[in-house]
Amino acid sequence: MLKSTGELERNMGTATVPLCQHWMDNATRCRSPAMRGTRYCYSHHLAQARGARKNAERARQRWFESAPLEDAASVQRALMQVMTRLLSGRIDHKQAGQILYKLQTASMNLRSAGLGPPSDKDQCKKGGWRGFTIPRKFKNQGDCVSFVNHHGK
Ligand SMILES: [Zn+2]
Repeated sequence: MLKSTGELERNMGTATVPLCQHWMDNATRCRSPAMRGTRYCYSHHLAQARGARKNAERARQRWFESAPLEDAASVQRALMQVMTRLLSGRIDHKQAGQILYKLQTASMNLRSAGLGPPSDKDQCKKGGWRGFTIPRKFKNQGDCVSFVNHHGK
């Protein structure tokens, strides 16, 4: 039961017609009638959805750019993430290919950057001496240990 026609008109005039919230410039809103269930008119709803998709796409690629690749373990970790994302369909083959190429480059850089110098003679043990290339490759464990004794702390 209506209380009064005046109240009905007030309701229709204010709360019931949502307007498009898109900013045309810094001061003006679009103010076309918004589509049901959205805050935007038809054309701006499409524009917003396109923008959101583009942002999601960019975020998908950016996770990799922020992944640390300073050692072999982190390259390995990133590789696992690429495989997981590829299998779950969150990246496509083309993106995976680009990322794998970057990973390959990163791991080559790591290898050429070398490892060392050893700061503790324990690092020379259990074959550890074989891994060092800085300041030089060692002939054997004893060579490595004697380097640490002379140059280490
Ligand atoms: Zn609009």
